[in-house]
Amino acid sequence: MGYSLFRLVTMTHPHADSVDLKNLKVRGMSALRDALTSRSHSKDFAFARGDYLRSRVMVISALFLALLPFWTLLDWFMLPAESLRYTLAGRIIMALALVLVFLLARGSKSRLEWARLSAGLLLATPAAFYALVLASLPDGGYPLIGYSFIPYMLTAMLAIFPFTLLESAVLGATLIVLQLYAQFLAGDLMTAAGLQDIWLLAALMAIAFTANYFQLGLMLRLYREATHDPLTGLLNRGALMRTMEQISGDEPPLPLALLMMDLDHFKRINDSHGHAFGDDVLRDFAGVLRRSLRPVDIAARYGGEEFAAILTGADKETAMRIAERIRQQAQDTLMNNYDGEPVCYTVSIGVASLQPRERFETAARRADSRLYEAKKISRNRVVGV
Ligand code: GH3
Ligand code: MG
Ligand code: MG
Repeated sequence: MGYSLFRLVTMTHPHADSVDLKNLKVRGMSALRDALTSRSHSKDFAFARGDYLRSRVMVISALFLALLPFWTLLDWFMLPAESLRYTLAGRIIMALALVLVFLLARGSKSRLEWARLSAGLLLATPAAFYALVLASLPDGGYPLIGYSFIPYMLTAMLAIFPFTLLESAVLGATLIVLQLYAQFLAGDLMTAAGLQDIWLLAALMAIAFTANYFQLGLMLRLYREATHDPLTGLLNRGALMRTMEQISGDEPPLPLALLMMDLDHFKRINDSHGHAFGDDVLRDFAGVLRRSLRPVDIAARYGGEEFAAILTGADKETAMRIAERIRQQAQDTLMNNYDGEPVCYTVSIGVASLQPRERFETAARRADSRLYEAKKISRNRVVGV
């Protein structure tokens, strides 16, 4: 399952505000890993990135299509007559390819694989056209005014997209090969001028990679901030709802259980020990959840002192066992208030299993009513079936 972004944040940064050196190192490593490949990105983030890529591909392919007739005009002035036949055919193929890229991006429904493919094809289309123009030119080299900038333009274009470094490296290597091919045809290969060209391309690529790194990093950070609760580092309510919708949309893999949790008499804790200590208790309980849940599970702060968890692959017995473990761990936690006095807290939990073809909200309502049953009976209790 691909919820590792959530796991990553909740597991490695239990306290968002305690920044020590080790924590910084862990963050640095995870930022690098996130920028390198999409393997550690969550399903949710992959979807958001797919959507981002898709919209950019659509805008740029439409822009290219609009500019294509003007570029064709340029061909008449710039290229030798014997090449025009090929370039015109090439332009028509390019226009068709761009329409295809546009439709592919539009039809990708933001699925990352398709959106990424459409971005790759968008860059490959002018590159293939350039290779075709080069191959169609008469021998002896021809000054390629209006064309030789294509590999540079495409390299600069890498910076437009929130590509991972690996994605950019694959595309960048292809562009270097294209440039080497152009040099081979022009007889510039391994000459001083040829090496200078490659050097310039490499420098542009380094700039594009840096832009990718910062763009993806910023996107991840904003995404994390928008989806996580700053106090506990758990998912926030909005992100939980979206995750539920996504799981519902994908035919949820059963068994799947839902826990609704509410800290008992939390108002009293606030009133007796202060709001700041109340915050400490909320953070502590988030820690209990992290320790009690499995990496595949998803935990969220649903509201003030209300929490929810989705337990993937958990049948009723497993869900009840995990809920009981959470309740027990909360009860066993001994905290000290700011006067050094020991303080305990407890939690009540409602458990529901998702039934085949049942909507998530229905199961969530059932878990919620069981939570209130637990409150009514005695608090510090788990109620399921
Ligand atoms: P019950 O056992 O019935 O759940 O009682 P309760 O006191 O826990 O429930 P109630 O809904 O009456 O009170 C919840 C309290 O949680 C009230 C609110 O001030 C407090 N609260 C909500 N958000 C936060 C927060 O972020 N930090 C702190 N410290 N308190 C919060
Ligand atoms: Mg409450
Ligand atoms: Mg409460």
